[in-house]
Amino acid sequence: MNIILLGAPGSGKGTLAKKITKDFGLVQISTGDLFRGEIAGGSELGLKLKSYMDKGQLVPDELTIKILSQRITKPDCKKGVIFDGFPRTVAQAEALKNIAKIDSAVLIDLPFEEIERRAVARRVCSKCGEIYSTLDYAGKNCAKCHGELFQRDDDKLETVRLRLEVYEKTTTPLIDFYSDRLFKVSSLGSPEDTYKPVKNFLLGLGGKK
Ligand code: AMP
Repeated sequence: MNIILLGAPGSGKGTLAKKITKDFGLVQISTGDLFRGEIAGGSELGLKLKSYMDKGQLVPDELTIKILSQRITKPDCKKGVIFDGFPRTVAQAEALKNIAKIDSAVLIDLPFEEIERRAVARRVCSKCGEIYSTLDYAGKNCAKCHGELFQRDDDKLETVRLRLEVYEKTTTPLIDFYSDRLFKVSSLGSPEDTYKPVKNFLLGLGGKK
């Protein structure tokens, strides 16, 4: 089973993806994480990716598709994949047709004002990648591994607004693209509230728990 998570940046795709991978044994592929890994490695490619990401712009399709295509050849992907943050353009969705059969696209819906509120509060563990929010967690270190928490550059308000503009213009056409297999869920409630209907939907699709 291969699934796409659609939704604006900051709508909760990463959090939902982690819950699905745990229950259904799928592999989460986040292009954003792949890019951040490349940046952390200090390569020239990493520098190029960073120049787009820091400005809230999309990485060009050709480069994104190339990096995604390399990741998908790894053996763990045979279990099934949750695509988190990919595709983000119609060109990427067209390319994905030749890469994997997509069973469903889960669309996470959240008003932009709430996205802005949550995004500026988001903190990420520098060691294990666990996601926290200053809205409900006051610690400076990860509760699991004690790694230091930090704010992603692209979670600053100005960049968040730019990313939402890019999403509206470039990524929302994918809602039509996948209209024949779309499942919509609101993430206004808690992560558990968001996950419950998605879990039932995936079980109905034949996903194994
Ligand atoms: P994310 O972690 O998904 O919020 O992505 C962080 C940033 O990485 C985005 O703002 C883009 O600059 C870049 N990015 C991630 N996925 C893609 C994609 N599928 N296409 C183009 N750029 C992407």
